[in-house]
Amino acid sequence: MTGKEVSPADHPDKVIRKVLKELRQAGWKLHKEGHWGRLYCGCGCLTIPVPGTPKSGEQAAHRIRWQARSCPLPEDDPRRRPGDARR
Ligand SMILES: [Zn+2]
Repeated sequence: MTGKEVSPADHPDKVIRKVLKELRQAGWKLHKEGHWGRLYCGCGCLTIPVPGTPKSGEQAAHRIRWQARSCPLPEDDPRRRPGDARR
């Protein structure tokens, strides 16, 4: 893990800020790295790059959210948001 921890509030795109905040609450860590930052999941299995100036914030936010679902934390893990990814 490299770089300092950064706050989701520092991201220039508001849609991405929202996703970053949600993931932070779910136990993900956000670090200054690469073009803007990188997300690290709570169990350490996954990292997701976060672009600073994507062409489409919505699309980047969607991709981040989608990638975050591959983290296999159990559904009852307190680091996961209640009701998330449940059908
Ligand atoms: Zn994980």
